[in-house]
Amino acid sequence: MKTSTRSSTHIDEPALTVVWYKKDLRLEDHEALCVASAAGRVLPLYVVEPDYWALPDTSYRQWVFVQGAVESLQDHIADHGGRLTIHIGSVVDALKEIRSVHGSFRLVAHMETGNAWTFERDKQVHRWCRDHGVRFEEFQQYGIWRGGALDRNKWAKRWDAMMSEPIRPVPDKIDWLSFGDTMLPDAKDLGLEHDGIQDLQPPGRAAALKTLESFLYDRGEPYQKAMSSPVTGETACSRLSPHLVAGSLSMREIYQTTLKRQAEIAELPKSERGLWLGALKSFIGRLHWHCHFMQKLEAEPEIEWLPMARIYEGLRPSPNDDTRLTAFATGQTGYPFVDACMRYLKATGWINFRMRAMLMSFASYNLWLPWQQSGEVLARLFTDYEPGIHWPQSQMQSGETGINAVRIYSPVKQGYDQDPTGEFTRTWVPELAHLDGKDLQEPWLRDDPIADYPSPIVDYRETTKEAKQRIYALRRTSEAKKEAAAVFDKHGSRKPREVRERRPRKAAGNA
Ligand SMILES: Cc1cc2nc3c(=O)[nH]c(=O)nc-3n(C[C@H](O)[C@H](O)[C@H](O)COP(=O)(O)OP(=O)(O)OC[C@H]3O[C@@H](n4cnc5c(N)ncnc54)[C@H](O)[C@@H]3O)c2cc1C
Repeated sequence: MKTSTRSSTHIDEPALTVVWYKKDLRLEDHEALCVASAAGRVLPLYVVEPDYWALPDTSYRQWVFVQGAVESLQDHIADHGGRLTIHIGSVVDALKEIRSVHGSFRLVAHMETGNAWTFERDKQVHRWCRDHGVRFEEFQQYGIWRGGALDRNKWAKRWDAMMSEPIRPVPDKIDWLSFGDTMLPDAKDLGLEHDGIQDLQPPGRAAALKTLESFLYDRGEPYQKAMSSPVTGETACSRLSPHLVAGSLSMREIYQTTLKRQAEIAELPKSERGLWLGALKSFIGRLHWHCHFMQKLEAEPEIEWLPMARIYEGLRPSPNDDTRLTAFATGQTGYPFVDACMRYLKATGWINFRMRAMLMSFASYNLWLPWQQSGEVLARLFTDYEPGIHWPQSQMQSGETGINAVRIYSPVKQGYDQDPTGEFTRTWVPELAHLDGKDLQEPWLRDDPIADYPSPIVDYRETTKEAKQRIYALRRTSEAKKEAAAVFDKHGSRKPREVRERRPRKAAGNA
C-alpha cells in the first residue's frame, strides 16, 4: 500500500485541528478543511521538506511551481482572514512544535500516492500520531482506493460516483489559528540550482482556473487530432497536469466543469457543435487514466523501481558508462526529432503524451537503458512529475508490464508525422536550422556531415530489431504469460478500448 492507513486512535476530541496541506493547495472542494472547520479552530500548515527536494526525481522547476501554488494558497487564506503556517524541516518536527505550544490537536490531510520517500514519511507521521494520542484522518481526493480491498472490475463505476459528488464550497466562516513562520524558502535555500527552464507554466489557483476555462471554451476543440504533435498539442492539450499535481483545483472540479460544458454544447444545433463533443469525451477518458495509473502505484509501491512483470527484472542492466544516458538527457543523440523534443522539454517543463512515450521508447528500446534511469531524467524535467503516473507509464513504454502491446516508436517517422513542416525541429535544434525534409530528419544520409551536430548514437533500425527479439524471447515464455495474467488481474483496465491493456497477442511494428 502506497499511502498510509487511516487511524482513529483517540479519545477526547480537541478543539484545534491542524490541516496538513500537501498536494491539495486550495480552499475549494477540500474535505479536510471542511471537517476541520466544522470541528473548531483551524491551523493550516504547509511543510517544506528539504530532504524531499534533495531526491533525484525532484527538481528546481517542480519546486518553483509548487512555491507559486503555495503562495496562491497563502493569498486565499489571507483573503479569508487566516495565515498559512510554513514549517521548513520534517512534518513530525512541525507537529511536535505545534503540540508544545498549543497542546493536543487533531490532524487532517488528503491521502497521497507519492514516491517511496513520501510513503515512508506518511508512515512516520502515523506512528508519531499514534504514539502521542493524536487523531490523524486522511480523506480521498482522487479516484484512488487503498489497499487490497480494491476490486478492479468496479473501479470505473466508483470513480464516476466519487467525481459526481457535490463540490464542497469553502466554509463560510473559518476560525483560523495563526502560528509560527509564513516565509517560503527560495530554491537556493533548498540547494536547487536553476535547471534551464525558460518558460514555466504559471502556477496557482487563478492560473489553474484560467487554464481550464480556456481549454473548455477556446483551445480544446481540436484536442483529439492535435494532441499527438508537440506543435499543436502545446495549445490544444489542456495543460492542467501541473495544477492537478499541486492540487490547485480538484479532479472533481475539472470533471464537473467539463460535464457542464458538454451539456452546453449538446444543446447547440448540430452544425454549431464542431469537434467539441469528441474532444471532451476524449479528455474525460484521460481524467480517468490519471487515477487509473496512480491506482497501480497505490496497489503496488514496488513498481516505482521493479517491473510489474518481474520476469523483465534486470533485462536492461545499468550500462558500464553513461554516454548514452548523457546523450539522451542533453538532446545530443543525433536523432533530430528526439533531440528537439528533449530540448523543448528542458526549456518548458512539459511535452505532449506521444512525445513522452517516444522519448521513453527511444531510451528503452534503441538505447537499451533501464527505464529507472531514463525515467529519473524525465521525472526531473517534468514540472508535472506525478510518480503514480510516471513510473507505470515509464515501464509500460518500455515493454515491462507484460500486459500492454509493445510499442516501439520510430524516431524518424515521428519526426515526419508530428512535425511535417520541420519548424519544431529547426527551432529546437538550431544546428540544423538550414535544413529541410529528409536532410533535416535524417541528416546522416547527406553527403556532407554537419560539423556541430552528432552522428546517430545508434542505428535505430538495428536496435529496434534487436529490442523486439529480446523482448519477445521473454514474452513468449509460459512463465511470462502466467505472470501477465496476474498483472492484468491486479492492474489491468477493464475498458480495453480506452487503455488497451490486455494479454499480449502479436508484435507491434514501428509506430
Ligand atoms: C513516460 C511517460 C511519463 C509520464 N509522466 C507523467 C507525469 O509525471 N505526470 C503526469 O501528469 N503525466 C505524465 N504522463 C502522462 C501524460 O503524458 C501527461 O499527463 C500529459 O501529457 C499532460 O498534459 P495535459 O495536462 O495537457 O494532458 P491532457 O491530454 O489535457 O490530459 C488531461 C489530464 O489527464 C491525465 N492524463 C492524460 N494523459 C494521461 C496518460 N497517458 N496517463 C495518465 N494520465 C493522463 C493527466 O492528469 C492530464 O493532466 C506521462 C506519460 C508518459 C508516456
